[in-house]
Amino acid sequence: MEELKKKAYGKINLGLDVLRKRPDGYHEVKMIMQMVSVYDELTFRKVSEPGIWISSNKEELPLDENNLIYKAAGLMLERLGSSQGISVTLEKNIPIAAGMAGGSTDAAATLLGLNRLLEGNISIEELLDMGVKIGADVPYCILQRTALSEGIGEVLTPLPAPPACSLLIGKPDINVSTKYVYENLHADTLKQHPDIDGMRKAIEEQDLKGITCRMGNVLETVTVQKYPVIGEIKEAMLKAGALNALMSGSGPTVFGIFASKEQAERAEKEIAGSGLVKELFIAEFVNL
Ligand code: ATP
Repeated sequence: MEELKKKAYGKINLGLDVLRKRPDGYHEVKMIMQMVSVYDELTFRKVSEPGIWISSNKEELPLDENNLIYKAAGLMLERLGSSQGISVTLEKNIPIAAGMAGGSTDAAATLLGLNRLLEGNISIEELLDMGVKIGADVPYCILQRTALSEGIGEVLTPLPAPPACSLLIGKPDINVSTKYVYENLHADTLKQHPDIDGMRKAIEEQDLKGITCRMGNVLETVTVQKYPVIGEIKEAMLKAGALNALMSGSGPTVFGIFASKEQAERAEKEIAGSGLVKELFIAEFVNL
């Protein structure tokens, strides 16, 4: 095989809680992670020139070792003791710096894709260990199905897929640094914590309303305060009929959950005309 194509799905957090800041500076989290049908497409090729050669449809992305694809490819070549030249073409659709793990999912797809292209035969367990060296969300993006995520994000418990529904995902014209949000979060003074255990139970019981009524993200205390437009998008989604709406990850992307595709499409028209968002997607949950 000389070439392989792979989809890298973005994620949302149905629930995101931060339990405490650890002495080493990392935050201990408790999150419900869900892949969605907004994805990047990566094409991996073996090339004769040694090195890792990345090209992308988005000018703003780094193409050198600062790209998480480069880190993942480098780690894989090192692990396999291979000097094979690799080119990766990235078609980026997932909003950047948006709280949808766009970089992490590209890194995960690179580990999975190169393991096949280079016939590495590395086990999923070892790929998960390699993934966490790149970023805390990378193991989840290797798992690619609904999961409870604990520790710094690397302790994963697979859950059943939630009931089918439709999503509207909108990103305002701002970029948010994950580092800024965590640095400004005061985990020990948080007054409200989402009921993650209750949400897990609702997922197991296939109770969509039980899931949506427990949606919560403690990082909103930092990001929504700084960028009120996030709160405005949530309001607009609720007004347009969402069962609930929430910021994903460290933001600024907001997702709304709708009982049907028709409702999500109607809301899409309203929100597209509101001027609040720059990127807008109709999507659904993905479980591989
Ligand atoms: P998370 O949800 O994990 O916090 P995010 O959606 O907030 O991630 P990303 O889109 O992953 O953020 O990108 C954050 C930064 O990482 C970008 O500003 C970009 O320069 C850098 N980056 C490196 N590699 C990639 C990649 N393959 N795709 C997107 N961004 C990348």
